[in-house]
Amino acid sequence: MNIVKKLTGLPDEEARLLANTGGLPGDIADRMIENVVGGITFPMGIAVNFKVNGKDYLVPMALEEPSVVAAASNAAKMARAKGGFNVTNTGPLMIGQVQVVDVKDPQGAKSKLLGRKAEILKKANDQDPMLVSLGGGAKELNVKVLATIKGPMVVPELIVNTGDAMGANAVNTMAEAVAPMVEEITGGRVFLRIISNLADRRLVKATAVFDKEAVGGEAAVDGVVYAYAFADADPYRCATHNKGIMNGVIAVAIACGQDIRALEAGAHSYAARSGKYKPLTTWEKDANGDLVGRLEMPMAVGLVGGAAKTHPAARAAIKILGVKTATELAEVMAAVGLAQNFAALRALATEGIQRGHMKLHARNIAVSAGAEGKMVDLVASKMVEEKKIRFDRAKELVEELSKS
Ligand code: NAD
Repeated sequence: MNIVKKLTGLPDEEARLLANTGGLPGDIADRMIENVVGGITFPMGIAVNFKVNGKDYLVPMALEEPSVVAAASNAAKMARAKGGFNVTNTGPLMIGQVQVVDVKDPQGAKSKLLGRKAEILKKANDQDPMLVSLGGGAKELNVKVLATIKGPMVVPELIVNTGDAMGANAVNTMAEAVAPMVEEITGGRVFLRIISNLADRRLVKATAVFDKEAVGGEAAVDGVVYAYAFADADPYRCATHNKGIMNGVIAVAIACGQDIRALEAGAHSYAARSGKYKPLTTWEKDANGDLVGRLEMPMAVGLVGGAAKTHPAARAAIKILGVKTATELAEVMAAVGLAQNFAALRALATEGIQRGHMKLHARNIAVSAGAEGKMVDLVASKMVEEKKIRFDRAKELVEELSKS
């Protein structure tokens, strides 16, 4: 930090703030990544009212955006009336890819690899007796032949049950271990040996029914269905539709120490799997006129390994959530994603999101206009009352209040 201070002229006070790593002791931070100078903390809130597969959860969410926790809690409350969220999953199967080039007879190599499947799976499983003892491990072998700009490639894929691990390290180790055998069998050259983040064998499927009166009547239900149709037809809208889902998913992921890049990569590549970018949720009106939402997406999360295990605050968040397996965590995250999407679409299709959002954002605007202490709430509530939640007005109010 002293070197950074010297190079950048960072004042002592700001350096001290940065060095304060919140719920993460400095020595742990130092072991997690390289060149550590400090930490940055997001607020963690608790979303309430979540009932998932009949069980109640307090859901920790860490993010910087106001109104997300409130919206999730409100949506979960509306879903409770009709039983909450029902979520199923496909099991924790991840894919490890091995890239083989310079193969003379790609189709012949594919057959040979499949012919020695048992041997290849054994080699993979020998790397992780712990995972195998828990019922996980490499279960299946697929082989693809790809036509690429550099000629044909043979790509054997290990399908690995990663249990309660997100699984990237476990799968990468297996992919690397089988590579020499794959070269020997195919006569080609191996380059990449790595997990795929398009985790389409590790899906969660969440459903919830929202009572039409709670949603705001027939017009509001229709509005949400039309909003979905818009996203289904237009990638510009769809990106924002899916971003709304990820507001919930990623906030829980950050709180629980998950690999959020892996989750984002999985979500958006799954959304584009047909060649067109599509919504991760669908919305329709049922025979009663109630609103039915469904979410389907990959959810590669873990409770062993990664920050979920090493970050003390993440461990505490997982305790609050009370999930016992990675699959249970994935199911709750799916419910939160669906709830978040519902809340955003309902607001957008009715009063617009800015009213609720800006009310909660008013305090941030007050702070950025220079308000401190009690003045923050005074400035924020005045702006809400005047319906002028703007930086220029906040600045005027700060000046007025500072004089008085
Ligand atoms: P890990 O290797 O730390 O832990 C997994 C291991 O824990 C297993 O191999 C197994 O031996 C053991 N284990 C003990 N109890 C288990 C249980 N109940 N279920 C399953 N395994 C159990 O972690 P990981 O999950 O293999 O890797 C996750 C990390 O990899 C994340 O930090 C992620 O950021 C990182 N990573 C991601 C990518 C990517 O997504 N592309 C690439 C490289 C690394």
